[in-house]
Amino acid sequence: MDAVIIIGGGLSGLASAYFLQQQGVSARLLEAEPFIGGNIQSRQEAGFLRDLGPNSLMLKGQVVPDLLQSLHLEAELVEANALAKRRYILNRHRQLAPLGPGVLFGGKLLSLQGRLRLLSEPFRYRKQDTEEESIADFVRRRLGPEVLTWLVDPFVSGVFAGDPERLALAATFPRLLRMEQEHGSLLRAALAARKKTPQSKACLVSFRQGLQTLPLRMAEQLQGPIHCHTPVDRLEQHTDGSWEVYSAQQSWRSAKIILALPAKKAADLLVLRHSDLAKELAAISYPAVSTLSLGFPRSKVQHALNGFGLLIPRIMGLQTLGVLFSSTLFPDRAPLDQVLLTAFIGGSQNPLDGRSDSDLLQTVLDEIRPILGIEGEPSFSRCQNWPEAIPQYELGHLARLERISQMKQQISGLYFRANWRDGIALGDCLEAAQQLSQQIIHQA
Ligand SMILES: Cc1cc2nc3c(=O)[nH]c(=O)nc-3n(C[C@H](O)[C@H](O)[C@H](O)COP(=O)(O)OP(=O)(O)OC[C@H]3O[C@@H](n4cnc5c(N)ncnc54)[C@H](O)[C@@H]3O)c2cc1C
Repeated sequence: MDAVIIIGGGLSGLASAYFLQQQGVSARLLEAEPFIGGNIQSRQEAGFLRDLGPNSLMLKGQVVPDLLQSLHLEAELVEANALAKRRYILNRHRQLAPLGPGVLFGGKLLSLQGRLRLLSEPFRYRKQDTEEESIADFVRRRLGPEVLTWLVDPFVSGVFAGDPERLALAATFPRLLRMEQEHGSLLRAALAARKKTPQSKACLVSFRQGLQTLPLRMAEQLQGPIHCHTPVDRLEQHTDGSWEVYSAQQSWRSAKIILALPAKKAADLLVLRHSDLAKELAAISYPAVSTLSLGFPRSKVQHALNGFGLLIPRIMGLQTLGVLFSSTLFPDRAPLDQVLLTAFIGGSQNPLDGRSDSDLLQTVLDEIRPILGIEGEPSFSRCQNWPEAIPQYELGHLARLERISQMKQQISGLYFRANWRDGIALGDCLEAAQQLSQQIIHQA
């Protein structure tokens, strides 16, 4: 019998296995696809190095840097270009405005009224009742409707593929809520944070061969067995509390199982014996997103591409969520004299409804050509579809997590670790995996 079986070989599952191993517990890992890494996938093709899902990892705190060190990945690490600090936003005149205090108070993004409204933030009332608030309501209340439209909405749709009217502030941006609760104002909280002893700076990184280096190296270092091409299709719990985990060909027995799966997949495995729990998991929504990797000769793109990329406010009526300047961000992403852009389309405000790759490509090209001054057709293009891309922490999400946690407590040896809780960023997935491994060790 195994000590632990982990179902799902994305970053959450791999990291859970790795942190358990660091504490002396070897786990068996079962992954449905022929490859590990989940949505972290990199491809080298025609001189372009592209990431199909996530593009960068935020290096901050202790857990992630320590992990990279223990995986001996320092030599593989590439830091984002210093230019990546500049992020563009499409303004109402269809021009790209670099984000920063200059554009907020002097640029063409906000009207005079919008700027005055923003400046009044410290004098806005602190929410007294405990009713859950959406990101949109919070931003409208504290910073004004223009900041929501021109800054927060494009950020939320670009990063979370989400709708700020539906996403819960407390679940998605708990830090903003704490800033208001502790300081009564976001501006006062930001000023107070600047006075504190500076913590080590966060920085954005990837690897020479793309982000996939991380899951591949983790898998290499794991001593426990890894079974790819092994979709788990059934779980049974024996009377002694141990679990039987079935795939089409085989089954394994284990004292503990970790479901490192998207919520709907976890629901499918639990629905027979734990239908209420499965119902809660299945209710977490995942909109579709497609990423388009686009190569162009440098001479055919007028924009300097001197930044991280651009975001597009939904009010502009375009379908593209944003574009990363991938070959600016990290070195060796495109052949000499070419550039690589990564465009995102879809999300909960812009359902894709099974649109074809060529339709998505045409839409994105039509939209970004005038914005970036692009001439002609791409020299390279690939489309990657993520039908269930990013879990949405919608209003009611925290209450749902609490119900899930209560139901789970009645089921021995069952653990969850995936991005539908504790943050969607890769760094959040790693930190949460470390915490789970400690919890399991302490319970042993
Ligand atoms: C397009 C996109 C862009 C993103 N960009 C960034 C970014 O730049 N930076 C960032 O920090 N985060 C980003 N994210 C978020 C981040 O990639 C994810 O939150 C993270 O990778 C999730 O890892 P996971 O292991 O929880 O889930 P997944 O990667 O979804 O892994 C789950 C695994 O379970 C497997 N599985 C499913 N069913 C079964 C079964 N029945 N049996 C066995 N295995 C099964 C799947 O095949 C998969 O490998 C992005 C996400 C997407 C989709």
